[in-house]
Amino acid sequence: MPAVKTAMDNWNVAAAESGANVHFSFKGLTDGEQISQGDLILIRQRVYSKKNRHLARLEAHSLRSDQLIDWGLILVDPRVKDRNVLTNIVAHEIGHSMGLLDCYHCESGTTAMGLLKSAEESNGIEGPTSCDRNSVLAAYQELKHHFSGRRYHKPQSMRMMRKMMIRRSCL
Ligand SMILES: [Zn+2]
Repeated sequence: MPAVKTAMDNWNVAAAESGANVHFSFKGLTDGEQISQGDLILIRQRVYSKKNRHLARLEAHSLRSDQLIDWGLILVDPRVKDRNVLTNIVAHEIGHSMGLLDCYHCESGTTAMGLLKSAEESNGIEGPTSCDRNSVLAAYQELKHHFSGRRYHKPQSMRMMRKMMIRRSCL
């Protein structure tokens, strides 16, 4: 639980300055039967395969099939047992939910969106880096632009996140 909260809190600190106005609050455990708009639920499920060596995955659902996400699932493979690695993963998947893509060629330590070496080895990243914050800022500015001129009120505060993915290299 604290492993999840750490990453969430760090993203919340960044949210204020990113202009995204997306805030996460920790609600505790759920049986998953009731999912409300705005929920981001973490579940344990097999994600890892030899072919696709991902330890986790974000499933984003958009009720209006637009670029905004209404609710999402973070699937974390059971092989992730290390607390610090779980924090790295949550920081990474929240990054996806904010519109960031994986960056495999980013320099290590510069982004939450890099690839983890293994389920045992933490990358030391517990939230968005300054590069990640700048990327989110740019993404949401673009989003505002995208929705301006339409009859769409306060997309960021009404709807949780954004699906329009952006990639930026962090060096
Ligand atoms: Zn990823």
